[in-house]
Amino acid sequence: MPEKKFQKSLTLKKVISEIFKQKIPVILATVALLFLFFLTGLFSLVSATLFGFIFIALILAMQNPENLYSLSADEKDNLSAVSLELKNMSFLKIMNEGIDSIPDSIFIIGENEIIIHANKSADQNFRTSDNIQSMVGFRLSSVIRSTHLFESIKDLRSSKTSVKMEIILPGEVEKSFDVYLSRIMSPSDDELNILILLRETTDLKKAMDLRSEFIANASHELKTPITVIKGIAETLDKYGLEDERNSKNFISKLLKESERAQLLIEDLLSLNQLEMRQHLLPGETINLVNVIDSVFDILSDLANKQKITLEKSIKKKKYLITADEKDISRAIINIVENAIKYNKKNGKVDLILDDNDDSLSFTVKDTGLGISQEHIPRLTERFYRVDIPNSIDLGGTGLGLAIVKNIAIRHNATLDIKSKIGEGSSFSLIFKK
Ligand code: ATP
Ligand code: MG
Repeated sequence: MPEKKFQKSLTLKKVISEIFKQKIPVILATVALLFLFFLTGLFSLVSATLFGFIFIALILAMQNPENLYSLSADEKDNLSAVSLELKNMSFLKIMNEGIDSIPDSIFIIGENEIIIHANKSADQNFRTSDNIQSMVGFRLSSVIRSTHLFESIKDLRSSKTSVKMEIILPGEVEKSFDVYLSRIMSPSDDELNILILLRETTDLKKAMDLRSEFIANASHELKTPITVIKGIAETLDKYGLEDERNSKNFISKLLKESERAQLLIEDLLSLNQLEMRQHLLPGETINLVNVIDSVFDILSDLANKQKITLEKSIKKKKYLITADEKDISRAIINIVENAIKYNKKNGKVDLILDDNDDSLSFTVKDTGLGISQEHIPRLTERFYRVDIPNSIDLGGTGLGLAIVKNIAIRHNATLDIKSKIGEGSSFSLIFKK
């Protein structure tokens, strides 16, 4: 320990040398005075020596022991150098702990791209094997494979500006990073080191990709009805409304396509509103039986048109939940509408409400074509539609189940989907009690 080197030991030799160093003028003056007294015959040799000893003893007794510990200028310099060193050491320790607590991965590399420091996050994200204790001493290229990164490091060694770049690292799961590179000089040997900070952006990139995909899909879906509407309007403008049969045909197409565009815009708006309200907990107590009854009334016309039998199976008169009534009604309409739309001719749709000790479930069972397993996890993605060969276009936007999923999340409920090709599907909303 450096402090030990500077602990002063108090030896007899030291005491005497310190006293003599500090009191030498006084002692010399005393000896000279006694010698003068002896020469003039005022003191005998014996009394002069005796007097001298008493005087020196008095000086010893008056000596302030603290003075014995006072340091020379050199020792003072050494001590302040050590205390600075100690301060630097604890500062470095704090810095290291701080760098370790940063979620970004940080590497410092020296010559030949050898790793001389890697923080905790770098270790967790990039250490490829549990058999090695630390990446220090390894080449950076053995843990990060990116030619783009190494070219930038090479450029940075010859230029003085810092670099910001993006890299994508392949792997089981592709990861993307924002990378910041800067030069740092090692204070001990004037070596040029490079600091590399990697900030993971995989989730952010995924969210941004989803957003652009969503905008592309929404514009594409809107483009279709609008193109048709524009085409019909241009034809009518050119040829007029004289041919009554054709005109009626065109107008009913106009209505259908404008309804499709309107539905899409309504769905987009309701998805957006749901996302904005996602953090607000629903506060009303509602009776699910009443909501199901009203959905039943709203959709019985559609069911009759498609020759589908709608049935309810509800044992009790009251099933209370804390919810937003409008949202729950919207979710149930979307599920029941699908069960009618994607059913077989003369099919059946059952609305079943049941509860047990800790949950309450609402299930819509249909006798439709069923959905193959690979599509089921993707049904709640926005704009996801199962392509049914040779089937007529039912005009959906592919947003219905995405809305249901959002509503379920806001109500801390789960959407459970089961289906068998040729037998039908069941969609359940399960609420916690
Ligand atoms: P929207 O509901 O927005 O008008 P949509 O019905 O096509 O359009 P979703 O409700 O999200 O969109 O449904 C997504 C897809 O899931 C549908 O296109 C359909 O292929 C399939 N699907 C949904 N419900 C059923 C069901 N009961 N039986 C068979 N397929 C279904
Ligand atoms: Mg739908």
